[in-house]
Amino acid sequence: MSNSNNRPIVAVVGRPNVGKSTLFNKLAGKRISIVEDTPGVTRDRIFTEVEWLDRYFTLIDTGGIEPDNGDIILSKMRNQAMLAMDMAHVIMFVVDGKAGLTAADKEVAQILRKTSKPVILVVNKIDNINQFDNIYDFYELGLGTPFAISSANGMGLGDLLDEVIAFFPKGLNTEYDEDIIKIAITGKPNAGKSSIVNKMLGEERVIVSPIAGTTRDAVDTYLERDGQQFMLIDTAGIRKKSKIYETVEKYSVIRSMAAVDRADVVMIVIDAAEGITEQDTKVAGIAHDEGKGCIFVVNKWDLIEKDNKTLGNYTKEIREKFPFMMYAPVLFVSAKTNQRMNKILETAEFVANENAKRVSTSALNDVIGEAVMLNQPPSDKGKRLKIYYGSQTGVKPPKFTLFINDKQLTHFSYQRYLENKIRENFGFEGTPIHFEYREKR
Ligand code: GDP
Ligand code: GDP
Repeated sequence: MSNSNNRPIVAVVGRPNVGKSTLFNKLAGKRISIVEDTPGVTRDRIFTEVEWLDRYFTLIDTGGIEPDNGDIILSKMRNQAMLAMDMAHVIMFVVDGKAGLTAADKEVAQILRKTSKPVILVVNKIDNINQFDNIYDFYELGLGTPFAISSANGMGLGDLLDEVIAFFPKGLNTEYDEDIIKIAITGKPNAGKSSIVNKMLGEERVIVSPIAGTTRDAVDTYLERDGQQFMLIDTAGIRKKSKIYETVEKYSVIRSMAAVDRADVVMIVIDAAEGITEQDTKVAGIAHDEGKGCIFVVNKWDLIEKDNKTLGNYTKEIREKFPFMMYAPVLFVSAKTNQRMNKILETAEFVANENAKRVSTSALNDVIGEAVMLNQPPSDKGKRLKIYYGSQTGVKPPKFTLFINDKQLTHFSYQRYLENKIRENFGFEGTPIHFEYREKR
């Protein structure tokens, strides 16, 4: 899919049972499915890519989160609304045209009225013309003209999508360099994300976003360092310290996932004093699976009592927790004392370039040939894997297609071996590498 990094985000908010997941499924294209064997990563399916009239966007079902026990509906809806206001470009507020207006709808509307982002009021379950009168009560919510749809039979969905895409900024990012580097700064609450962002914004040239309608609660921040432009994703909320929902882990993870989805480089900010958390593991796993450049940023390094082994031990701990991400640089910084803060953008730029790097087919095949000679490919029942040749067939992340005799003979450990050889020769530091096999007889 083209242009995925510039996809706007549309968030769906609404009470349980109004039909959010039905709507979501109706609009869903390719789901983002998360590889199961990554430790700690669940198979939440709350994101989907949608295409309408050649415009692409990411739809997020903010209600698609399993219920936390003991959490009342209203506070969950508040969290959903906050999340949507914080990170979406357009918000769809879905209500139930069959059940009619409820007190909870009014509460949520009151929150949503405060945002300057476009909010589309969607009255679902209007399955036929006769039920159309049901929409009038919803004018009371003060969110403009209600949009009648039926997620069940698809009525009104085309008009709704027209309305949604009309709000998208025209030519997103066109005033910026094509090679602008998009960075997601993730990490658990209090890890120091906003301190890091504020330090960066204080020191580099901040470019004001020209995108209409996004000035007041911009999702992204643009800055420049030594002629290279960067976009910090989803930092507005960080700076505003709207942390209410962030304390609910699942919302915090969703928010990070949305940021990761749009990024070239993901920074996983870890609180040095607290160590690696479950959430860090999840977000790192997602960034890895999605082929993003990854950097571990261990912040609050000033708080750690150090001797000559501390840094090495800490690095070792990260390597043990993330054995599938040996490629990711680890930075030890302090947003408080400014220690090594200047390394952050420098490393992000380096990693972004590695993530986009391309090597020639001949150089690649020299490396593969030598690797095969040093260490024979695996065999099974007398049949040996043959690698005829390889070719780099993609960037962001680098992807290698290997033409082989039989897919059954491929083995993860041999792939890891080839990956190591490729990295030894070409670097690809900070980025995952993907492999694909094609049989050729
Ligand atoms: P969610 O909790 O908001 O995600 O709601 P669901 O998508 O799970 O839908 C709740 C119920 O409403 C289900 O029984 C759906 O079949 C039903 N429903 C969803 N959309 C429509 C619709 O457009 N018309 C009618 N009649 N029922 C719908
Ligand atoms: P966020 O929730 O990840 O955005 O974290 P904040 O940037 O709000 O920081 C949380 C707390 O940690 C605040 O009290 C900061 O002052 C503090 N903090 C942030 N970075 C550092 C650091 O490098 N060293 C120390 N000692 N404290 C820090």
